[in-house]
Amino acid sequence: MQIKFIVDNNVGKLAKWLRIIGYDTLLFKEKNDSKMIEIALNEDRVILTKNSQIMKRRLVTNGKLKAVHIKYDEPKVQLRETVKILNLDHHFNPFSLCLKCNQKLVPRNKEEMRDLVPPRVFEIQEQYMECPSCHRIYWHGTHWQAMVRELESIVEED
Ligand SMILES: [Zn+2]
Repeated sequence: MQIKFIVDNNVGKLAKWLRIIGYDTLLFKEKNDSKMIEIALNEDRVILTKNSQIMKRRLVTNGKLKAVHIKYDEPKVQLRETVKILNLDHHFNPFSLCLKCNQKLVPRNKEEMRDLVPPRVFEIQEQYMECPSCHRIYWHGTHWQAMVRELESIVEED
């Protein structure tokens, strides 16, 4: 089964990167550890947090709940650390989740996109995806390629 995450707000930038890779990732914005733990348990999600107190919870120490304590401040280092600790495949499934809503993107016909994307994009792009929640349109453009390249350079750096 595919690993899923819940990202504590104190390491919130990780959420976007994990979604770029294609990992189902909730961003938890409240300051309520118990609620975060409850969601993690109910939805079988791994907690990523900077809060070392969570690591002392019995559910974590007895292995019922998986949590990773992120020690670094720099988001890029946090990402590298996460990929390394959990042995994530960063080629997993890019371009599959909405970076804003964490919803699975749905493929759309090119013809339907004519009035929804800039003409210059429409001319050259063949593949389009839409977020069912916020209706943002994604395409395999230069912005996306740049993000994937940045991701690779972050993760592969030693
Ligand atoms: Zn969305």
